[in-house]
Amino acid sequence: MLIDKLNLKLVNIECMPASTKLNAIIDLKTDIGDLLPYLATEIRGCTYFHGANELNYMKRGHIIAIRPRQITVTALQDEVEAQQMCEELKKMINGVHERRDSITPTLRKQARIDPLTVYRELPQTNCGECGETTCMAFAARVASREMVASHCGSLLLGEYANNRERLWGMLEQAEYDVE
Ligand code: SF4
Repeated sequence: MLIDKLNLKLVNIECMPASTKLNAIIDLKTDIGDLLPYLATEIRGCTYFHGANELNYMKRGHIIAIRPRQITVTALQDEVEAQQMCEELKKMINGVHERRDSITPTLRKQARIDPLTVYRELPQTNCGECGETTCMAFAARVASREMVASHCGSLLLGEYANNRERLWGMLEQAEYDVE
């Protein structure tokens, strides 16, 4: 087991004094820096810049940042939710550590495109043909690599050729699958 006990501290969100949500700062006794490239491979849709010692991703509306000695989690309801998140993170990190010999580490830049950047190039008609109720929801799923952009059939029409070209270019540069 790589990590056992986690040192959890809850703090108020400084930039939103009226918010009742809390951020968690979780200090790690063990340095997990060497595991970050393996976590980057395993955590779908994460942003990771190899060498920068930080990995970020979204889960259930929380932004999670993992660094060698510290993890931060945003927008938690209370201590109960924070403890659950700690247990989840511990299990996930220890699981990746145990399986690391069978995981190909990510040793290059892996960027996440902002959902709004994807949204700007979509038809924005909310037609629902992709299976999502709104274009914004589709954009979020594309940004997190859960769906490919070509699932928007409207985008394949001639009138959106320029949008498609721009979006495909951005996605390919960030090493997303487009089809
Ligand atoms: S198919 Fe395209 S235009 Fe229609 S809702 Fe999905 S993303 Fe929007």
